[in-house]
Amino acid sequence: MLLLAGGRIVTPDGVLSPGWIRLAGPLIDAVGSGSPRDQPVLDLSGQWVLPGFIDIHVHGGGGTSFTEGPVDEARQTAAFHRGHGTTTMLASLVTAPLAELETRAAMLAGLADDGLIAGLHLEGPFLSPAHRGAQDPRHMLAPDVAAFERLHAAARGHLRVITVAPELPGAIELIEAATRAGVTVAVGHTDATADVTLAAIDAGATHATHLFNGMRPPHHREPGAAGALLDRDEVTCEVIADGVHLHDIAIRLAARLKGPGRLVLVSDAVAAAGMPDGRYRLGSMRVAVAGGVARVLEDSGQPGAIAGSTATLADTVRHAISAGLPVTNVAAAASTTPARLLGLDGRTGALSPGLAADLVVCDHYFRPRAVMRQGQWLARP
Ligand SMILES: [Zn+2]
Repeated sequence: MLLLAGGRIVTPDGVLSPGWIRLAGPLIDAVGSGSPRDQPVLDLSGQWVLPGFIDIHVHGGGGTSFTEGPVDEARQTAAFHRGHGTTTMLASLVTAPLAELETRAAMLAGLADDGLIAGLHLEGPFLSPAHRGAQDPRHMLAPDVAAFERLHAAARGHLRVITVAPELPGAIELIEAATRAGVTVAVGHTDATADVTLAAIDAGATHATHLFNGMRPPHHREPGAAGALLDRDEVTCEVIADGVHLHDIAIRLAARLKGPGRLVLVSDAVAAAGMPDGRYRLGSMRVAVAGGVARVLEDSGQPGAIAGSTATLADTVRHAISAGLPVTNVAAAASTTPARLLGLDGRTGALSPGLAADLVVCDHYFRPRAVMRQGQWLARP
């Protein structure tokens, strides 16, 4: 049995400082505070131990992506994020021609069969051109149940989340069909009013794709999708806490309004994450990264909308903590809540006995120093 001791262990019930974790193969056997009776195998004094991060919105990283390129590059993308602490992730696709999305969904379903990813997130094609962000409006479609069923079939049971603009014709039927199929419906890339969004929630939508980004700004007489998504308790909200997409006040307000069990940190990372400034791709769109900020490269050659992030989920964890969120709430938003959203809360998402030994050892500044997945070190301390 492997015993890790001496660090600050972030559990659902608080920080054990110092605390210890005893591992049994791929699982956490026991967690406690103080000094263990047995001799620790690994001394983690001065370090933080957080549950492995779970990123449900990620397109790429380390120069490769899920959105284009061969299957080996998709594997590299997953490996890049695992090495930075994301022990569980969905692969997020962006708007593309329907046949291409079917092909990629089938390819990524193979990675899910192999356990490299926990499934797929479709960010498109049923989105609003009015808030397209970095998505290609030429391939956006009105919500269509038959098209959804083709995509769902291609993903062979691995489609977990779909982002929909609820104001589009046919959206309510699509939300109902996806919910019946067990797929989480997220509201996003939308120009919906608050009332339209409430109707979408009544139809089964339970999640917000990067709250505030890709939706009309809230106004006190028309709070928009953001207002409705914050208001309804059954809705979980993603935030991209990278210091670029949201002001820290917006992060804190979302955290306070949703509470620790309803906020979800996501990276929305693109291929440029972990890479130098330069030119990249996101689906059919060209992306230029300058100063670590990814923007769509317009046909004119000018930078346009923000095109995903260059952050890992670990970067957003560090930023959320520096923005003032309590460490335990950040661990909930980065691990426990997304685990519950994916139906994996009986298997991972917290440093609790019986769950998978998925953990991230961070230094004093919350920089990842070691990553363990299912009891195996991916990077050693
Ligand atoms: Zn995205």
